[in-house]
Amino acid sequence: MDTKYIFITGGVVSSLGKGIATSSIGALLRARAYKVSAVKIDPYINVDAGTMRPYEHGEVFVTQDGAETDLDIGTYERFLDTDLARGNNITTGQVYQTVIEKERRGEYLSETVQVIPHVTDEIKRRIYEAGKQAGAEIVLVEVGGTVGDIESLPFLEAIRQIRFEVGSENSMYFHVTLLPYLGTSEEFKTKPTQHSVATLRGVGIQPDGIILRSKSSTPEEVRKKIALFTNVEARNVFNSYDADFVYEVPEILEQQGIGRFIERRLELEKVTPEMRSWQEAVRILRHPSRAVTIAIVGKYVAMPDAYLSLMEALKHAGIANDAQVTLEWINAEELVEGDIERLRPFDGILVPGGFGIRGIEGKVRAAQFARENNIPYLGICLGMQTAVIEFARNVAGLDNANSTEFDQYSPFPVIDIMPEQLEVEGLGGTMRLGNWPMQVYEGTLLEKIYGLNPGSNHVVQERHRHRYEVNPAYVDALKAAGLIVSGVTTGMAGRGEGLVEAMELPNHRFFVGLQSHPELSTRLMRPSPPFKGFIQAAVDYKCETLDKELETKSK
Ligand code: GLN
Repeated sequence: MDTKYIFITGGVVSSLGKGIATSSIGALLRARAYKVSAVKIDPYINVDAGTMRPYEHGEVFVTQDGAETDLDIGTYERFLDTDLARGNNITTGQVYQTVIEKERRGEYLSETVQVIPHVTDEIKRRIYEAGKQAGAEIVLVEVGGTVGDIESLPFLEAIRQIRFEVGSENSMYFHVTLLPYLGTSEEFKTKPTQHSVATLRGVGIQPDGIILRSKSSTPEEVRKKIALFTNVEARNVFNSYDADFVYEVPEILEQQGIGRFIERRLELEKVTPEMRSWQEAVRILRHPSRAVTIAIVGKYVAMPDAYLSLMEALKHAGIANDAQVTLEWINAEELVEGDIERLRPFDGILVPGGFGIRGIEGKVRAAQFARENNIPYLGICLGMQTAVIEFARNVAGLDNANSTEFDQYSPFPVIDIMPEQLEVEGLGGTMRLGNWPMQVYEGTLLEKIYGLNPGSNHVVQERHRHRYEVNPAYVDALKAAGLIVSGVTTGMAGRGEGLVEAMELPNHRFFVGLQSHPELSTRLMRPSPPFKGFIQAAVDYKCETLDKELETKSK
């Protein structure tokens, strides 16, 4: 079979949920057993998302091969249940960097180097290459931004050209638009969609299908009206109305026949999608039998997208434990001096990754509260580092222990930058990134969490994104005071060998810290093991607390 391409563009406004639409189409094709890959095009000039503020742009997602990408790549991975790679996120920065480097090497043989064809050729090359690298039968390509933006023009031109190179039966276009509802006149307004499609046609692309994003399900006349104005058959105008859970969107689109439409349009065999386990997961998500509430002590509490993978990992872990996981965001800064007792009612405390000194002392206090009160604790990356700092100060007697990220002059720099990192110049792509193998020690809680049988291979891979490490000079002192190192970096031919990857505490129901970001590889039906273990501990803790309350009441 020739490789097929499905292009997804967006209109009217940004943040429409194009990523979810793209991922949902991908999930439906995966459910038909196709090998699918997905490419996100970001028209900004940053080479990657690593240098952008999560507060504005949401989380920086890291692929197993260490690329710092747009968070949509994470959504694709979770919906397609596939690991993606560096080449799956194309930015204007990358494209121009390559073109300019080529020009400097003289590879354009004295030609005038122009947007068309040189930049568009480089875009096409990257799209084809991403599909080839993944061995994909179907490649989804989502063009970020909104049609009509100046910066997306070269990308639209490139995807227009691809149809002529691969043929109409091997390529199709979806346009996702906003369908606003006006309360005053009580109607859906189709005009923005009409204009947006007109703009798209102005650059030579006639969409094959339209996906309308709306608050609620739209009446048939609306679809017919849009069909009339956009040259798209009414049956190919789909409606992705707001759902309680993003994982419901594939089903919503499938019920309207989107899968069958793609099959017809791309001349694929008619296949019944296998969605049973997906549907079962969604069913539990909707009607869980238990519930826990987790406190997340972080910095970007006003921008949950900055912790997107984390939230999904907790959701997936909830499904595996048949439990609803309610999150409460606690601004770490408020805990620096504020009332720490407000953490008492939670079934678990999670301190996520982060950078910079803001709120650090609040995170240290949160770790102390969890340790002293035997409340389940999960520390991710910075959340592990602050747990180590807390333990060093309050258990190992290393007063004013700190990370050199926050205190250059700490007498006990228990978290420190490693020599390899000191030599690095610049901030882009220079951290410890992507998959690193961890040796899990036998007899630890971590071994149970990962379900490793004694005597079996105890190496697991998790993704990383950080500069600082537990300082090897203090590991013995920390261990002597009772801290358990449950995993270390291994098998990297000397690079980082033996660095602390994970820690836990004895005599505690669940106190686990990981230097990595296991939330980056969570899947709907395959939750990240540390998150699954954490939620299980929270469920057990809650049951115990309830039992105790009942006991005291009945006395
Ligand atoms: N700021 C810390 C470091 O660079 C932790 C990073 C993180 O949590 N991702 O090591």
